[in-house]
Amino acid sequence: MSFLVLDNLQKSFGPVQVVKDFNMSIEKGEFVSFLGPSGCGKTTVLRMIAGFEMPSGGTITIDGEDQDRLKSNQRNIGMVFQAYALFPNMNVFDNVAFGLKVAGKPKAEITERVNEMLALIRLEHLADRYPYQMSGGQQQRVALARALAPKPRVLLLDEPLSALDAKIRISLREEIRQIQRQLGITTVFVTHDQEEALSISDRIVVMNAGRADQIGTPSEIYNRPATRFVASFVGTLNMIDAVVADPAANTVRIGDQLIALKEAIAEKKGGDTISLALRPEAGSLVDSGDTALRGEVLSSSFLGSVIRTKLAIGSNTVSFDMFNDPDLTMPAPGEVVTLRFSAGDLLVVRD
Ligand code: ATP
Repeated sequence: MSFLVLDNLQKSFGPVQVVKDFNMSIEKGEFVSFLGPSGCGKTTVLRMIAGFEMPSGGTITIDGEDQDRLKSNQRNIGMVFQAYALFPNMNVFDNVAFGLKVAGKPKAEITERVNEMLALIRLEHLADRYPYQMSGGQQQRVALARALAPKPRVLLLDEPLSALDAKIRISLREEIRQIQRQLGITTVFVTHDQEEALSISDRIVVMNAGRADQIGTPSEIYNRPATRFVASFVGTLNMIDAVVADPAANTVRIGDQLIALKEAIAEKKGGDTISLALRPEAGSLVDSGDTALRGEVLSSSFLGSVIRTKLAIGSNTVSFDMFNDPDLTMPAPGEVVTLRFSAGDLLVVRD
């Protein structure tokens, strides 16, 4: 059995169901992110795991133990919130010691553990500081140390980086991941930032309106989005509308152009509309792929490492990226070009 199991979890606030049929099994030591737009229910699932909200249905099991009857303080879970939420009237040492004091640990043990935690977050030299005397990034590291000090079974992180500026956000997410690996602690991380989720996670749950749309490794989520929602939320994929031509031959029409897909669409009927996703980096004007689409250049932008060109193909706007090369001529608006790619890069996604 997996370490943390969410089985058919449901949550309603009055008549509004915000979490629906949510299933997820998380292994010991795994780092899982819940990724989704604001209001999709990520925090509500996290708060149910922590015991701050009671599920309307379903069960939560940690290490084989049903959490239903346990209060939040009996679950041995560490949590870090978006707002730093340190005790403002306590210095760093006392903030980190808080959970250990509440648990009635002996003084010597508390001192040893707090020092160990401060070394882990590299803030031993700030033990006497108060929260208002520290930067946001430092405060979040203290919040992490405070959550980890009582040796929780599970660590829950609710958008812990979103209040920080971009540079600190990236360095702190790397630090969180390194500490998580070092301790081997099972972690659930909530974010609405796809790059953050892709960079930090073992697996990602993409949430859409209270449900898990797709669960997979960052590479699976990015390379094989299962639904139109996942494809549009994760990455900068092009969504292309196509009409099924001959289902047995896997052929579709995009505008007036006929192409063959790699993926089987035998369950579709001729004339059905389907959604296809294509990553901008999959297309090229020079490399010979096995598939080609003509399009009229709408614009070309120099983005530094790449040149991004937008094409009109039928009623679709399709972007593709070429690596920067000083000898390259940027495709000019109005020019008709042929975009080449492999049929396997054109992904059929569910609506
Ligand atoms: P965000 O990133 O904005 O925090 P989220 O995905 O974490 O979004 P939740 O905070 O889980 O979303 O909220 C899901 C839905 O449930 C929202 O529509 C929210 O308004 C609603 N909701 C959350 N808590 C309550 C509550 N205590 N009472 C009523 N509605 C609530």
